[in-house]
Amino acid sequence: MIIALDGPSGVGKGTLGRSLASHYHLAFLDTGLLYRKVGLYVLENGKNPDSEQDALEGVQFLKFDAKDDHKLRTEVVGQAASKVAAHLSLRQALLEWQRNFAHQHTSEYQGAILDGRDIGTVVLPDADIKIYLTAHTETRAERRFEELKARGESLTFDQVLEDVKARDRRDQSRQHSPLHPAQDAFILDTSFLSKEEVLERVISHIEKSTKKDYL
Ligand code: C5P
Repeated sequence: MIIALDGPSGVGKGTLGRSLASHYHLAFLDTGLLYRKVGLYVLENGKNPDSEQDALEGVQFLKFDAKDDHKLRTEVVGQAASKVAAHLSLRQALLEWQRNFAHQHTSEYQGAILDGRDIGTVVLPDADIKIYLTAHTETRAERRFEELKARGESLTFDQVLEDVKARDRRDQSRQHSPLHPAQDAFILDTSFLSKEEVLERVISHIEKSTKKDYL
């Protein structure tokens, strides 16, 4: 089973993605980390995230292990990631790798789930299941604020709200692979739902929409 999970920042994709991966024994890839790694490279090497050439240089230094680390999750890296993510050549350089991840055949997993912005529309248009999460901007900023606070970042709520809005604007209005739901995506507004309720509704959708028995 291949699941494409998309949506804007702070909507709960990571939490849902990990829960679904464990429920269905799927390999999980947070594709935002790939863009964040390039963003971090650009920042640490005094490069310009708006330069396509600088961003593309960053991809050559990527180790595709999608390893989590503290620096990658910061808001400043998130902003740089959304700038480098606008470049077509960078997106193309990451495309093949994401597709290979989804279709790798290992005995450990029964498929894969990838979360990002363009998984259902561009990376895996033939995914078995497509999910698009949405939530009010303030709600997403609140969640992001709590997450960053727990990590020790000292941003105010208003700063986080502005950052979320800026990232939304950039991700939705860019020319290549802008953020929007795939036509055949299951769209779920998580604004007033707990993590458990989101998981429950998505599992119920998956089970209704597939005849295969993945359990
Ligand atoms: O999901 P996350 O917040 O880690 O993503 C950081 C940035 O990477 C996003 O704001 C977006 O611009 C970019 N991204 C993307 N396509 C993806 C995943 C992330 O453009 N599939």
